[in-house]
Formats: sequence, C-alpha cells, structure tokens
Amino acid sequence: MSINKVAIVTGASRGIGAETAKLLAEKGYSVCINYLSNDAAVEKLKNEILESGGTCISVKADVSVSSEVIRLFETVDHELGCVSVLVNNVGILKNQCRLDEMSEQRFSEVLRVNVMSCFLCSKEAVKRMSIKYGGSGGVIVNVSSGASKTGSPNEYTDYAASKGAIDTLTRGLALEVAAEGIRVNAVRPGFIYTEMHASGGEPDRVERLKSKIPMQRGGKPKEVAEAILWLATEKSSFVTGSFIDPAGGL
Ligand code: NAP
Repeated sequence: MSINKVAIVTGASRGIGAETAKLLAEKGYSVCINYLSNDAAVEKLKNEILESGGTCISVKADVSVSSEVIRLFETVDHELGCVSVLVNNVGILKNQCRLDEMSEQRFSEVLRVNVMSCFLCSKEAVKRMSIKYGGSGGVIVNVSSGASKTGSPNEYTDYAASKGAIDTLTRGLALEVAAEGIRVNAVRPGFIYTEMHASGGEPDRVERLKSKIPMQRGGKPKEVAEAILWLATEKSSFVTGSFIDPAGGL
C-alpha cells in the first residue's frame, strides 16, 4: 500500500515522534519532520537521519491551524511527493490539576491541539491517499494514550478526554475509508520517558508511577515507535480500526 514511501510525522522534534521518524527513515521512507518551535532539536535529528543515508525534510507548522496544515502537506507534495503514511503524533498536556480548577481556555487549547490537529491532518491525508480521489492508498497512525481509558483523574482530564476523541476518530475514520485503500489505527502508550511530563509540572512522573506498571518500568520512546512502525507498514496489511497498547501491561 505504501507505494510512495513518503511519511509525515507530526510533533517529531523529540520524544516518540523523533524515534518514529528515525525508524521510518531506516525503512526507506522519505520523512517529513513536523514540529512547533524546537529548531535545534530538529536540526540534530535531521542531520542524524541524513548522515545515516535517509531522506528527510522539516516543516515548522502549528498543526492545530488549518492554513498551517495545508502549507505542511503542500510542502511535502512538492519536496517529497504524495504522502503515503501519516503519523498524528502531536499531543500536549498542562499542569496537573482537578477538572474544577481548570480554565476554559486551557481545556479549549488542549482539545484544539490534540484533536483538531488529528482532524485537519487526516483530512489532508485522505484527500491525497483515497482511491476515491485517484490516490494510491495509505496509512494513518494516531498516537492516543492509555489516558483515554483511565480518564487521568486529578491530573489531566482534559488531556484524557482529547485522547478519548482520538480513539473514536480512529475507529470512525477507519471504517469510513476501509474500502478506499486507507488503513487507520492507533497506539495507546502508557508511561513513557519523554519531556512531555515536564509540561505537566512533574518531569520525573514516570519514576513515581513505574511501580504501578505490571512490568515495573516505564517505556522508551523507541518501544512505542516500533508499534507505530508496524502499523505503518505492510506487515499489518489486514489491520484497521485497531489499537496497540505499548504500556507494559497497564
Ligand atoms: P513531547 O516529547 O512533549 O513532544 C511533543 C512534540 O509535539 C514536540 O515535537 C513538539 O514540538 C510538538 N508539538 C507540540 N504542539 C505542536 C503543534 N501545535 N504543532 C506541531 N507540533 C507540535 O511528547 P511525547 O511524550 O513524545 O508524546 C508524543 C505523543 O504521545 C503525544 O500525542 C502524547 O499525548 C502521546 N503519549 C505520550 C505518553 C508519554 O508518557 N510520553 C504517554 C501516552 C501518550 P516542539 O519540540 O517544537 O515544541
């Protein structure tokens, strides 16, 4: 299905997105690294991929904004060719608190960045991939979270709700485009060692919670990226509307 071998990974400057971009490049995909602001991290990642013989470009774009998403996809059309794999990886969270302490502005921002980005990017991808529109098919992998099942009480119910929406979008879109050559799946990671937890006000959150994980350890970004890679490639050719939980048993 991935005839063009062109992949877009949103939020790929660091963490799970960066590891996914590296693995896709290793598998021969021309990769577009999308990010919001961290130029230095992206330069380092790009150099690493290029020095290993891979092909990549970077596009700085806020994927929660429609015009930015259109610019991202048009840049990829011109510089790499038609996208065949989209990884909707962008996700943000804010300081841990109860729902009754949350501002309306914060709730709205978390939902906008986490859900609108997935909607906008998926829409552009379907228009290019669907055989209904003359495309050659493709794959969309959404990065949800175990939070969609736990609800993240006392920490981030807004974030958890946004991931619940990602799960529902994954299932709905998968069925909508299943007969049009597009597969849509998601991963729901557990506690993974990335910089994201610092945005929630607790950089060492995984260390605090690891004893609650059946496997008694936090996950590495690469362990999530491997699941994304499997869903992105032909190895999972009969899988759509499904979820993989790289979460150590949670
Ligand atoms: P991270 O280390 O915090 O990285 C977030 C990435 O998103 C960065 O590349 C950031 O770019 C980018 N970004 C943020 N807002 C953006 C926007 N509006 N437009 C474009 N890019 C934007 O995150 P992570 O921990 O790797 O998480 C990746 C995904 O996994 C998220 O969806 C997250 O919800 C999910 N997840 C993570 C965990 C975990 O424990 N870490 C668990 C479950 C699910 P800049 O660097 O330029 O700011």
